[in-house]
Amino acid sequence: MKLFMPETVFFEPSALKYPLGNELFEFFEKQGTEIIKTSIQNVSRSIPGNNEQQKYARAKKTLVITTKKSMSLDVCKPSADFEFSLATNCPANCEYCYLQTTQGYKPYLRTYVNLEDIFDTILKHIEKNNQPITTFEVASAGDPLALEHLTGSLGKTIEFFGSLENARLRVVTKFSNVDSLLPIRHNGHTRFRVSINSRHVIKNFEHNTADFDERIEAASKISKAGYPIGFIVAPIMVYDGWREEYKELFEKLRQQVDVNPAKETVTFELIQHRFTPIAKNFILQRFPGTKLDMDESKRTLKWGKFGRFKYVYPKETAKELKETISAMIMENFPDSRIEYFT
Ligand code: SF4
Repeated sequence: MKLFMPETVFFEPSALKYPLGNELFEFFEKQGTEIIKTSIQNVSRSIPGNNEQQKYARAKKTLVITTKKSMSLDVCKPSADFEFSLATNCPANCEYCYLQTTQGYKPYLRTYVNLEDIFDTILKHIEKNNQPITTFEVASAGDPLALEHLTGSLGKTIEFFGSLENARLRVVTKFSNVDSLLPIRHNGHTRFRVSINSRHVIKNFEHNTADFDERIEAASKISKAGYPIGFIVAPIMVYDGWREEYKELFEKLRQQVDVNPAKETVTFELIQHRFTPIAKNFILQRFPGTKLDMDESKRTLKWGKFGRFKYVYPKETAKELKETISAMIMENFPDSRIEYFT
């Protein structure tokens, strides 16, 4: 896959007080990338575009180098005890991405260069949590591998967790640039969950991510390097030929992924396609020709947190999806664990 290179990079003054901020500044200067030094408050209005589609496309090529200011971590149940970010947003253009809503009109990328402060915060939360193992999710606000070739931050974080007996890291990715992570002393403390899907879903809705074969190859490399591995199958979609394509997916995974080196149970998380009215509005503006099925009349309402609702498949269809996909998984990975279907 083609690795991301921004067209414009904003540097917040605070970022240049850290070694990684300076390294990135020198790197982009040598590349001849457009560099703007300014405060993050000015970024949104500096991104050009005559309509939402143009602004979105341009924002996805804009990187802000900044520092993490808030050192209080959010709880991330049920996936982990806490979540933290090395970066926010991601250069890919998945049409259904939940960030369409959560990051609304600010879809530009941010990376945080004060890693030492972030690690210090993690240590404080481990101490406060006072449990034998405290778990941390690093992929809630974007894809942590998408900027790895520029920052190296995920590698440093994996190594940091490798040195901690009482903490574990959880990563999710749709990218395949894993080679730099293979020799790291991870000590089995980082679980990679590779986000996978059928060829149809990846090709039509997950633009600028690793393709079907690249993701399986990345999962194969990660598992052979001894990392505990899992898969997020999301969003699961119903379309002509979905059964055959998902069957192919799990068979290919079984052929190529070595589940033994880590001696940890392989996990699967299953999420059916859903959309909210707000997300639909963003998606139609940003991807006017989308083929995403967002016909409310063919869906059922599911109430979520804070009184928000989303459209999911009707009960019977969801049941069929759950049973069919679960059977395919168990046939190919009999010792795995399906953590949930939602
Ligand atoms: S890779 Fe993940 S974070 Fe990035 S656009 Fe796709 S769904 Fe969103």
